[in-house]
Amino acid sequence: MISVKQEVRTSHANTPLSPLEEFQQILRESVSKLNYTQSAYELLKEPVRFLSVQIPVRMDNGDIKIFTGYRSQHNDVIGPTKGGIRFHPEVTPDEVKALSGWMSLKCGINDLPYGGGKGGVVCNPRELSFEELERLSRGYVRAISQVVGPTKDIPAPDMYTNSQVMAWMMDEYSRIREFDSPGFITGKPIVLGGSYGRETATAKGVLYTLQLVSELKNIPVDQMKIIIQGFGNVGSYLANFLYEQGAKIIGVSDVLGAIYDERGIDIPYLMGKRDSFGTISNLYRNTITNKELLEKECDVLIPAAIGGQITIENVNRLHADIIIEAANGPVTREASKILQKKGTLIVPDVVANAGGVIVSYFEWCQNNQGYYWDEELVDQRLKEKIQGSFKNVYETSKRYRVDMKAAAYIVGVKKIAEAARFRGWID
Ligand code: GLU
Repeated sequence: MISVKQEVRTSHANTPLSPLEEFQQILRESVSKLNYTQSAYELLKEPVRFLSVQIPVRMDNGDIKIFTGYRSQHNDVIGPTKGGIRFHPEVTPDEVKALSGWMSLKCGINDLPYGGGKGGVVCNPRELSFEELERLSRGYVRAISQVVGPTKDIPAPDMYTNSQVMAWMMDEYSRIREFDSPGFITGKPIVLGGSYGRETATAKGVLYTLQLVSELKNIPVDQMKIIIQGFGNVGSYLANFLYEQGAKIIGVSDVLGAIYDERGIDIPYLMGKRDSFGTISNLYRNTITNKELLEKECDVLIPAAIGGQITIENVNRLHADIIIEAANGPVTREASKILQKKGTLIVPDVVANAGGVIVSYFEWCQNNQGYYWDEELVDQRLKEKIQGSFKNVYETSKRYRVDMKAAAYIVGVKKIAEAARFRGWID
């Protein structure tokens, strides 16, 4: 095995690795396992393009406020870059870069003709009015319009952005370009060229991977006790699908707190009561913290909220045999190594939550064809793709004797490196 130059620092207890450093660390491991040259690592360790923008927005009180936004294009060797835009107060350049790298892996693993991209705006959507949110969404598109487009870089929803935000962005882009461009962005409302099944796609993808895990571990889904952190687009639909399949959802949470009930939670009730940010804990008097929820005993723990939730600090207090990363980057690499030693099965984010980008790809295909599919076809193709990828990554993990996260990098990097070699970008 060749060794790729060590230039990433290892983490210390009080200075954990940043998401980008984690990405680079696992990337380096996978490039070594594949016996690739240093140039493969150098090409992929950073995005090929990174844009930082300042966005002036007229607020409802008449003042102008300047927001900071980013767009990271990790790699365009296979095709245009693709990935969501998050609106969140803690968005950082480092995180957006790492997220775009993870998107490259998701696209590679699922044979999508894209590289990875990701965008973010530093803001708190809870504090913005509907009108301010619209002006911010349009302002962001104006700021990045030169580097995006249906054959360049195709955005989509991510944390705290939804089909309404995509509709404003599509409208703004179409005005700038002076033609109707539905394929510029995915996750649109159905009536504007969105795809059936896109709204629930990430959750469905997680469900399909969990069904394979259930076969692997010989535990039927309807006998599983499950905890889901987060009740946003992924957590809420996933909880509902699992509830319909007879699983017992014993814990769910939002940004404010968590609900825990060993007897199982009435998910359809919460579905009817949640707000657009997935707030539900305010409906209950006896809540616990998110931290406490993660430590409760269950068969399957599904972090579906934000990154960096399971770390060296709390990993030894976890009581789950199976962890499915429905969020991006919820388990740090160090924590996952400890869990792996204990025999915990961790399905990595780039496998488990790829349903969103898979159906985004279907949406883009439909936009390009001008011919629209029914929900059944979308669903069937999503299932084929995500289950195929899960099996491929699982088998790769056995072949290379690595965990599923490292195997996912191996599968994704292999695809990108092959394309890069044909183009003459790497040796
Ligand atoms: N934001 C989603 C993700 O992290 C979806 C990206 C897309 O649909 O392009 O995978």
